[in-house]
Amino acid sequence: MKYVGAHVSASGGVDQAVIRAHELNATAFALFTKNQRQWKAAPLTADVTDKFKRACQEYGYGPQQILPHDSYLINLGHPVPDALEKSREAFIDEMERCGELGLTLLNFHPGSHLMQIEEERCLALIAESINIALDKTQGVTAVIENTAGQGSNLGFRFEHLAAIIDGVEDKSRVGVCIDTCHAFAAGYDLRTEEECAKTFADFERTVGFSYLRGMHLNDAKSAFNSHVDRHHSLGEGNIGKTAFSWIMRDPRFDGIPLILETVNPDIWAEEIAWLKSQERAEEAA
Ligand SMILES: [Zn+2]
Ligand SMILES: [Zn+2]
Repeated sequence: MKYVGAHVSASGGVDQAVIRAHELNATAFALFTKNQRQWKAAPLTADVTDKFKRACQEYGYGPQQILPHDSYLINLGHPVPDALEKSREAFIDEMERCGELGLTLLNFHPGSHLMQIEEERCLALIAESINIALDKTQGVTAVIENTAGQGSNLGFRFEHLAAIIDGVEDKSRVGVCIDTCHAFAAGYDLRTEEECAKTFADFERTVGFSYLRGMHLNDAKSAFNSHVDRHHSLGEGNIGKTAFSWIMRDPRFDGIPLILETVNPDIWAEEIAWLKSQERAEEAA
């Protein structure tokens, strides 16, 4: 069973995100639990968390179908100690917010070395940041997203994800989210079924499907191996629809949130319906 949805707005309150997902006929969704461009947010009140949990129950979303995303400001591999500390505190706060909402996953971009430290050192800092956060929280899994490798962002090689996981003590609470646009922009081809099979065989060898906790299904405006992060609607970019149909027919992607972060929210409902039809096509075959 595939869970398919989009990264919906939480404006008006996190419970509104649940209603928006339901209106899209989605079986999964992503959201920010606070303004993603600010360091601080008011704590979640019992009223807010109750409303969110009630909405999830009413519309049938369990924690395995929801992939919250942290703030873009956080850099868990920051080379400057004070800034690293600030990121670590904010990340722990994000983990706690997820826990209060009854959620079990938190998706984040690993971090950037800002040209000030070696890649390896930065990956070790990220692992250490995750260890600190897991130690101070309960029940929420840290879900590392692969990146396009824009600027000095790490996580664009599957080996980076593997190196971070390697440094995490509690392997039961660390996982990964693969963004198809980021993978493609980082040099992992997805344009044909053969290339998809090759890319995910590489993923299985390097990281392993046992760590896969979510996917971001985005076509790419960016060119192959360009290290530029620009999403596009499914079938309108340089990846094309084949990869998304292939993913929907592969049981290794069952049971995890498959989230659209495509550029036109007006067609999310259509994109979700199309993805679901690809899974059904397989079941009928
Ligand atoms: Zn993404
Ligand atoms: Zn992106």
